[in-house]
Amino acid sequence: MKFQCSACGACCRRAGTHGLMPDRGDGACIYLGQNNLCTIYETRPTLCNVEAMFSVRKEQEPSLTLKQHYVRNNELCNKWIKEDGLDSSYLIDLSKYDKDGKEEISEPRRGIERRGEEALQEGSKRQSEASSIQGASEEITQESKEKKKLLCEDGRDEKEKNKLKDSE
Ligand code: SF4
Ligand code: SF4
Repeated sequence: MKFQCSACGACCRRAGTHGLMPDRGDGACIYLGQNNLCTIYETRPTLCNVEAMFSVRKEQEPSLTLKQHYVRNNELCNKWIKEDGLDSSYLIDLSKYDKDGKEEISEPRRGIERRGEEALQEGSKRQSEASSIQGASEEITQESKEKKKLLCEDGRDEKEKNKLKDSE
């Protein structure tokens, strides 16, 4: 079972107002990027990690199940999505949690998680660009070594030629 998140951003847009995170000036968390992605996703606080928060809640309420925890969170999501007048496609279908708990919910958009995946993809794209640049630089270095070698050989030939001239 996976937590459903539609990446509506409603929670992050309220985090500043609710005093949960530093306010960027409009009530939203200071770490919410312009593209609606969390800019510190990999190191985001426990508070922003629904999975991690389950352990915290479970300590306070030992009988709490994962499904109940997800549903409670998603009920808030749906409340905020409606409050913000967002498109209904952002609404979370709570009935999906009634399916077999072992079944993975493959939402087309899994919110914060999806945003994290996008950030990771962007990171690996940058890494591959960096590798290409490194490759190109290695080729240039190799080419310049070869040119240097040719020049040295030319120079040696020149010396040989001069020696021959002197001996004539
Ligand atoms: S669906 Fe819920 S958890 Fe996901 S971004 Fe919206 S409010 Fe936050
Ligand atoms: S998930 Fe990121 S942007 Fe959203 S409240 Fe947490 S730290 Fe801020």
